[in-house]
Amino acid sequence: MLREAAQPELVRQINSATLLSLIEAKSTVSRAELARLSGLSRATVSNIVETFLELDLVHEKGIGDSRGGRPPVLLAFNPYAWYAVGAELVDSDWMLVLVDLRGQVRKSLSVAINTNRPEDAVGAFVDGYYRILDGFSKPVLPGVGLGVPGLVDGKIGVIRSAADLGWVDVPVRKLLEAKLGVSVYVINRHKAAGLVEVSYGGGVGSRNLVYIGIGTGVAAALFFEGQMLQGANSSAGELGHVTVEPNGRPCPCGNHGCLQQYVSGPAMAARARELIRSGNRSILEEMNTGNLQLISGKSVCEAAEAGDSLSLRVIQEAAEYLGIAIANLVNVLNPDTVVLGGPIGANSGALLLKPLERTLRKRSMSHPLRALNLIHSTMGNEAGARGAAALVLARKSELIFGVEEASSLRQ
Ligand SMILES: [Zn+2]
Repeated sequence: MLREAAQPELVRQINSATLLSLIEAKSTVSRAELARLSGLSRATVSNIVETFLELDLVHEKGIGDSRGGRPPVLLAFNPYAWYAVGAELVDSDWMLVLVDLRGQVRKSLSVAINTNRPEDAVGAFVDGYYRILDGFSKPVLPGVGLGVPGLVDGKIGVIRSAADLGWVDVPVRKLLEAKLGVSVYVINRHKAAGLVEVSYGGGVGSRNLVYIGIGTGVAAALFFEGQMLQGANSSAGELGHVTVEPNGRPCPCGNHGCLQQYVSGPAMAARARELIRSGNRSILEEMNTGNLQLISGKSVCEAAEAGDSLSLRVIQEAAEYLGIAIANLVNVLNPDTVVLGGPIGANSGALLLKPLERTLRKRSMSHPLRALNLIHSTMGNEAGARGAAALVLARKSELIFGVEEASSLRQ
């Protein structure tokens, strides 16, 4: 229990975090209302608000209605007082963003990583970090958020395994904190994109949401009653490795018939190649100048958009498998929203939705299906980096005042 007399500084920090959250949640609020909402004395509120004004975190914005006596001065949160850096590792690049306190992107840049070695990825990030801050004069929170591929233990900031990169037990947080001297928060990149969806995208207001990121692999961010599920050891959401075909294609995880062997970019490209080699015609051949190895998940989506029947068939098949996995989630979790995201999910989202809805009607129970809103993400290619930055924003009071605040974005 806190002893106020013994720890006045800590109590002040906690009160600061509480008051800032209250101001942020309202468009405007008076000191008297803050005292009423927080249970703190008027004197304490005025004193802390004075500090917020000095730090530029809060602005005085107009005069409220009088309830007898002098009308109150209204306070408003200033989202441009501090900024935060977030980044996503996509293929062989870092996408970095600098966001304001409301998570809006102020600046972004992409930095290439030369090799698959973790040291090179860390070096490229450090380079990008200093470049994005170069010439930026506003205060920046002393923390960075990183969205990375693979199985991530967010509590200790370690990538347990990232099959595409060949990484096992890479201590990203430790490596970067040593170089940057700021706090580093690490999360799976699709989970980061899921955070963006619930914070700023189609999932705002949703309590039970499943975000499915489809790119080189498939992963989900599961939100239950507004909180992201982490699981016993941080691996909840590995939707790409649920079995959809008992004797299906082998997967590097050791299983057969995993979802991502049918639905990811590489899997859809492989299926298109297979169909072309067995004599089917497709504009994918011209698009890739006859070199079938150049076909990617993205080009399959583009060809499907242009009406290519082979590509549409590949997407339809993928939708069937994805539908099986989502139907199971609908029956088990009863989500109100499922968002398809990631490079493939967002690009082919509209094409996937129709066949997906058909499969869901066939395979989900009708009661939970009635509650479901199935959409595709419109958050764009900065979603993962913005979501990673949201991890930093969720800790702004801790980073500014030195104490934790309650937040659904913690992991
Ligand atoms: Zn697998």
